[in-house]
Amino acid sequence: MNYCIFCEISNHQQPADIVFEDEQMIVFKDIKPKAAVHFLIVPKKHIDSIEALKEEDKELVSQMIFLAKKMAQEQGVSQTGYKLLFNVLRGGGQLIDHIHLHLIGGEVRP
Ligand code: AMP
Ligand code: ZN
Repeated sequence: MNYCIFCEISNHQQPADIVFEDEQMIVFKDIKPKAAVHFLIVPKKHIDSIEALKEEDKELVSQMIFLAKKMAQEQGVSQTGYKLLFNVLRGGGQLIDHIHLHLIGGEVRP
């Protein structure tokens, strides 16, 4: 596998502004936030993208969505609303080839 920045962050080999972590998941602030709340929900298991998902990953993806919902509540955007976004492959705007879910909410930044 090629170098993967999100694997490195998951292993604490690269710094990040981590807001949640457990055995399977890590959540950190996007380095270029598009809104007041812009977190990346990242499974520690390396999966390239939505397109690389296998049947066995169903539970993991479900956990990502429920964790995003919990983080939205904690950040106070669950009432006003937020976006959950998967970019998929280059044509879909995916730049980092380690699956991640964007949680974007609150005031939008230019
Ligand atoms: P995507 O375009 O869906 O692959 O999103 C990748 C996101 O990761 C972008 O919004 C970047 O700003 C963000 N990003 C890239 N490197 C880092 C990093 N080291 N720490 C936090 N966020 C990052
Ligand atoms: Zn990775």
